[in-house]
Amino acid sequence: MRKQLIPLLLGLILAVGCGQASRAVPSLKLGLPIDCTLGQDCFVLLYPDRDPGPGAVDFGCGRMTYDGHKGTDFGIPDEETMAQGVPVKSAAAGTVLRTRNNILDRRIQDPDQTTEVKGTECGNGVVIDHGQNWQTQYCHLRQGSITVQPGDQVSEGSKLGLVGVSGEASFPHVHLSVRYQDQVIDPFVGIDAESGCQSPKNPLWKTDLPYQSTGLIRAGFSTQLPEIDQLWSGAFKENTLPVNSPAVVFWVHTYGMLKGDQEQLQLRDPSGKVVANFNQAVSDSQKVWTRSVGKKGTQTPLMPGRWSGQYQLVRGQQILVDHQATVLVE
Ligand SMILES: [Zn+2]
Repeated sequence: MRKQLIPLLLGLILAVGCGQASRAVPSLKLGLPIDCTLGQDCFVLLYPDRDPGPGAVDFGCGRMTYDGHKGTDFGIPDEETMAQGVPVKSAAAGTVLRTRNNILDRRIQDPDQTTEVKGTECGNGVVIDHGQNWQTQYCHLRQGSITVQPGDQVSEGSKLGLVGVSGEASFPHVHLSVRYQDQVIDPFVGIDAESGCQSPKNPLWKTDLPYQSTGLIRAGFSTQLPEIDQLWSGAFKENTLPVNSPAVVFWVHTYGMLKGDQEQLQLRDPSGKVVANFNQAVSDSQKVWTRSVGKKGTQTPLMPGRWSGQYQLVRGQQILVDHQATVLVE
């Protein structure tokens, strides 16, 4: 009896095994394509679009994507950080297929400028073949920063170049596209997923990358109301302001604001008195956003000492961002 049982069991195991294998695809596991700490000095600002139609939805059923976006955008705070050099890394081992390294870094500030980068939307880029029909592509690298060549073997984490703002990029970031058999794969969802955001998820990331659709990019002080282009360029990093400044302004640069989110900003002078206050609901959802409060110096000089700013972003009962910063007026 036992001799008969063993082949029977084997047959059963094979049958079950084949059933699973029929849909199994050699999976690619990915590390981060950028050398930074997510949520601290870099942020996923745009995810792949999972809506097959003219709409756009990210894997978390949010709106941090746009129609037809084929990759994941890992953004850094500003172009000053970019100038210091933030490495772009290979997300997995493979062979370099193609590179482009000669495109100017220029941040797109106006939709009309996109026609000027037609044909070179990826900017300076690298394509890596990981075998078994998997490829990754890295876009918008800094001009001249790419240090690999076609044919080079790379490991996971190998430096490919530096984060830039070349091609069709409106902020400094690396765009990572993942493809299997030339089809775009959303690495937050995996290979077998249906379109939309409700299907089961089998992410390709080696470490868990939780959905973070809202957050703070940077906060600081200035002597005038900042514009978002100035913030992307890296302006207003001062730790001290002169007492005869026209104003003290506390500002925040945020992402993923939803209509109805409550924003609270307070500016306190060195005596601890609240001298400027903002508390209002966001009127329209925004992918990136800046808000500021300030106190004018008018006739008298500003009070010398340490001024402080506090920012809270609240959604329903949840505090999404709670940030404090100080500046010395002297
Ligand atoms: Zn992108």
